[in-house]
Amino acid sequence: MPLPSFASPARNRSMPALAPMASVMGLGLCLFLACLAGILSRPSGFLSAFWPANAVLLGMLLRWPRLAQKASWLVALVAFVLADLLTGSNPLAAVWLSIANLFGVACGWWFMRRLDAPRLYMRRQSSVLYLLVGCTLAAAGSTLVGAGTGPLLFHSSWPQTAMMWFSTELMNQMLILPLILSIPTRSPGRWFARIKSRASWTMALPLLSVIATEYAAIALGGPGALAFTVPSLLWCALAYRLFTTTLLSLLVCIWKIATISAGMLEFTPADLDVAVSLRLGLTLLSMGPLAVACSQIARSELLRRLDRAVSHDSLTDVLARAAFLSQGQRRLERLQQSTEPAAVLMLDLDHFKLVNDHHGHAAGDAALRAFAQTVSQVLRPQDLLGRVGGEEFAVLLPGVRASAAQQIATRICTAVRAQRLVLPQGEQLTVTVSIGVALTDGKAQTLAELLQRADVALYQAKAAGRDGWSLCAAADAHNPALVANLGV
Ligand code: GH3
Ligand code: MG
Ligand code: MG
Repeated sequence: MPLPSFASPARNRSMPALAPMASVMGLGLCLFLACLAGILSRPSGFLSAFWPANAVLLGMLLRWPRLAQKASWLVALVAFVLADLLTGSNPLAAVWLSIANLFGVACGWWFMRRLDAPRLYMRRQSSVLYLLVGCTLAAAGSTLVGAGTGPLLFHSSWPQTAMMWFSTELMNQMLILPLILSIPTRSPGRWFARIKSRASWTMALPLLSVIATEYAAIALGGPGALAFTVPSLLWCALAYRLFTTTLLSLLVCIWKIATISAGMLEFTPADLDVAVSLRLGLTLLSMGPLAVACSQIARSELLRRLDRAVSHDSLTDVLARAAFLSQGQRRLERLQQSTEPAAVLMLDLDHFKLVNDHHGHAAGDAALRAFAQTVSQVLRPQDLLGRVGGEEFAVLLPGVRASAAQQIATRICTAVRAQRLVLPQGEQLTVTVSIGVALTDGKAQTLAELLQRADVALYQAKAAGRDGWSLCAAADAHNPALVANLGV
């Protein structure tokens, strides 16, 4: 089914483009099939225990916000009613049940569309609680409108129908909605490739423990057996990605309901209260692994952000000095092992003190940011750029010999010279850069040594009039007068 691209609700609010009609029809087809699955699994004369259509609709509206348009609601109503009519329901029941289902979805959607993207897409520790509120609203909304069908269609009283409807709907929403909200954004091919690359016996252990505990639950039986799988699911939540954990929780829950219905698990709900309690209990049990999985995601995102903040310069967003030196040294060692050449550039903005003096420190900061951006655009993805001092930057060019290094240095000088920064007063600010180039010479060298040689060449470029580059000849690197002059 063609679907619009993944977008956060926040983005959607400012850009309310509608999904193409083909996507809306695709949504209708999905819902029609989900309704059929629910209807075919429902005992005659009773409400379904498995009714995925509502959660599928809510999930798709939240996951692909551009689908949230009048046409989608209309198509959904048609799909719900049609599925019921085609499977022999009377028209009154078909319309009433469908309106109840859609009203519940609308209640859940009204609440959940207000959540920010990380909270909605299960990337915050509190996500599970918000999910529970959204699912509870969805279940309560549909119960309110739908429970009146009980006395008329299913020979059960309003309270009985309401209890059954609410617990079933909450269970379906809580199990299916997280699955849709956590569908990986990468293509299925890349997803399988990633799973294949990580596949190992140790990775299979949490899954095997789920199977083992489910077997133990059947062997031992009793109401306590319902919770046997919780530790294994928690292990899955720690070991696997969120989508895999939500999928396993759903499968375990379906399996439990199936084994109870088939009498394999010796715990047959004697009356309605126990059946309702069972569904609510299963729903709430699934929250534990989900909460752990969300916390894991929130924690790794926090660590990633911390790592980025430490390794990147906050003004220019290129590598900070320490990160450049450590990453550059590691890269250089790998290059030397495979006897590949490399070049190091030392860049220093010309007369930058004057920029600050004439235009102010803020303009100087803006010039540094623009400079870093311009240089990044000239470089290749495999090159490393770092800010090693105030207005001094360094570049490591892997696999590059003298002529290519000189071409790159020329391109950087030209691009920086051409860059025009418009200041708030309308003035245009231009800057130039001087560059020192040093090359590996086949012997083992550290990054610090290469930077020192590039610094010698930089001094020569400054002395030659600035706005240009100079290559460090091997003799210069050992010239004590030059080195002393630079204080290196
Ligand atoms: P040269 O061509 O010889 O390199 O001259 P220069 O003026 O660039 O060199 P100098 O070392 O005398 O001055 C460097 C200036 O860079 C001084 C300092 O205020 C400025 N600078 C360093 N870091 C920052 C920064 O983060 N923001 C701003 N706005 N200026 C900075
Ligand atoms: Mg300097
Ligand atoms: Mg300078």
